[in-house]
Parts: sequence; structure tokens; C-alpha cells
Amino acid sequence: MILIVDDTPENLTSLKKVLERHNFEVDTASSGEEALKKVLKTAYVLIILDVQMPGMDGFEVAEAIAGYSKARETAIIFLSAANTELSFITKGYSSGGLDYITKPVDINILLLKVKTFYRIYEQSRKLIEVQKTLLEEIEFRKRAERKKDEFISIASHELKTPLTSVKGYVQLLERSVDKGDIPTVKKHLKKAQLQLDKLNNLIADLLDISKIESGKLKFNKKYFNLNTLLDGIVEVIHQSNPEFTITKTGHVPVDIFADEMRIEQVIVNFLTNAIKYAPGTTEVHIKVTVENERVTVAVRDFGIGIQPEQQKNVFDKFYRVEETSIHFQGLGIGLYISAEIIERHGGTVGVNSTLGEGSEFYFNIPLISTTETA
Ligand code: ADP
Repeated sequence: MILIVDDTPENLTSLKKVLERHNFEVDTASSGEEALKKVLKTAYVLIILDVQMPGMDGFEVAEAIAGYSKARETAIIFLSAANTELSFITKGYSSGGLDYITKPVDINILLLKVKTFYRIYEQSRKLIEVQKTLLEEIEFRKRAERKKDEFISIASHELKTPLTSVKGYVQLLERSVDKGDIPTVKKHLKKAQLQLDKLNNLIADLLDISKIESGKLKFNKKYFNLNTLLDGIVEVIHQSNPEFTITKTGHVPVDIFADEMRIEQVIVNFLTNAIKYAPGTTEVHIKVTVENERVTVAVRDFGIGIQPEQQKNVFDKFYRVEETSIHFQGLGIGLYISAEIIERHGGTVGVNSTLGEGSEFYFNIPLISTTETA
């Protein structure tokens, strides 16, 4: 918008009319004081400023405006009666640009100058936008770099923990073997096995991440019975978490076409999270529904839950809810891998959750998932 400042009402009206005829939005002020008030409220592209006015003159107005943040990109065209006045052109003004026109105003020249200032204004706007995006991009890299460093340190720690346990159990085993204490040998072997499984899963997850990054995550889709798969998973999870009752409702009436091992990986991830993030509880519900040739599997827990603004991030790579991350072991990649697997089946993942009450993680895939087998 343009602000015209002139103490002569006829000048104001005629200039306004001309500019409006050329599709410029115009505001007016009949004194320097009124102009200053308006500049405080509105960011003008250009001010056409009469130099000779009673009260504050045009130069004083320009110097005052120079300090306003709203006028950082505002240009000024002075209207002056004589060329000599222009030697006063304010030194203090370093904002959008300065120019002048002598009176009587040649409308064509004024229009030319107005258009030029508008173009400069548009271009500088665009430059500022570009600069902003560039800065944001740099910041985003930087952030990704920091996240990666953080991840490497967590991952090394997570890998070291089971490894140290295994080392410990092997030492104990040696002693028990020497003593010929077979029941203790068996106990230590089982514990070492559990830690090795953990290690194996961690490494498998890490490998999956790099496969996803390089576009090499492969799928081997065929027909299989999802109900049987679910029963098997529930049994295994229950064995290692006997305190939990895992109930299952609903079933799929047909075999589905998908990558069985990958779907198993997703369900196991949902279930182990449902148990991990629900200390002190004993129930997990699995619900299977079929609608429109698609199946939904939802895993509901009664654990710590997730705040609404964090729910959208849990499927992001390396994301862990900060407030709770110190209490639970993890790398923040399981759900990311799950989301990738489901998406590559032409499906969707999601979560409904209430902080302190529990969460429901679900996926929905076509019964016959022919999309993307690469
Ligand atoms: P990890 O559990 O190894 O950190 P995930 O990718 O499986 O990684 O999960 C990402 C984050 O989402 C977890 O760190 C946790 O903050 C949150 N989360 C996942 N599942 C649940 C759940 N059932 N209840 C509460 N928070 C969860």
C-alpha cells in the first residue's frame, strides 16, 4: 500500500485518484504527525511525502520513520517545490530507498517511479523469502546431523548393554560347567540367549534402516493366514511376558497377500512397545477388522500414553518422546521401520493415544497388497 502525505487536500485527492486508477492501494495523511501514526500501524511499500508542510516537514517525518521497524523496507518519494531543498534529503533515512519529484508533479514520471519502487520491493521480498528458506534448510541439516550423532551414541550404548550381559553370563557359565551344575548352566544359557536375541533384533533394525535409506528394503509377498500369524506372535510374546494377558478380537476370513515376515515385524514392534511403555499394567488388546477389502490390526495398551503434539512424530526416524526416553531403552527406529513396511504395502499406520491412559497403534493394509514389491 502507498501512503500519500500532503497538507493540501486537492493534491491528496488527485494523486490518490491517479494511483488508484493504476490499481495501487492508497492511504492518505494530511500532516506529518498523522503520517507517523499511520506508519506505526501499517507497513507501507512506499510513502509519497510532501516536503513543505506546516508542523513537521517532510524531512523530519522521514527521519522519524527511519527508526520504525514497520518501515524497514518502505521507500520514500519526496515532493518538493524546489531542487535546492533536496540537498537536505535526509541522511538518517536508510530504509527502503529515497527519491524525489519536483512540483508541479509530472504524473507520468511519478507513476514510473512508483512502479519501479514496487518492483524493487517485490524483488527484495522474494530475496528475503529465499534467504529465510535457505537459513531454515541449513538449520534442518544441522539438526539432522545432531540427531545422527545422538543416534550413534545411543545405538552404541544399546548394543553394548546386551553384549556386556552375554560376556557376564559366559563367565558364569564357565564356572557352572566346571562345577558340573547343569541346572545353573541351563539358566545362564537361557539368559545369554535372551540377550543375544536382543542384540540380533537391534542389529536387524539397524540393517533395515540402512536398507530403507538406500532403497534396498525388499519384500517377499505371498498368501498367508493372518490369524495364524497373530496367534503365533501372541504366544511367543506371552511366553517372555507371562504377566501380560494379550486378548485378540476379530479375524480375517481370507488369506492375505503380503510379506509375512515384515508384517510380523510390525505387529511384534507394536506389541513389544505396548508392553514396554505400560509398566505396571497387565493387559494388551489386539483388534482385527476387515472393511472395504482392507484389514486393520490395532494394538491397544493401558500404559503411559503420548501427548497429542508428540503423536504425529512417533513414526519419524530416531524420534523418542523426550520426557520418557530415559526410563525406557530404545533407539526410536522401530516405528519408523514399521511405517515404511506398511506404506510399501499400500497401507497406513496411525496412533490414538491419551497421556496417562494408554495408546492404540494400528495399521491398515489391502487384503491383497500388490503395490510396490520392489
Ligand atoms: P523405541 O521404542 O525403540 O524408542 P519406536 O520407534 O518403537 O522406538 O517408538 C518411538 C517412540 O514412540 C518411543 O521412544 C516412545 O516414546 C513412543 N512410543 C512408541 N510406542 C508407544 C506406546 N505404546 N506407548 C507410549 N509411547 C510409545
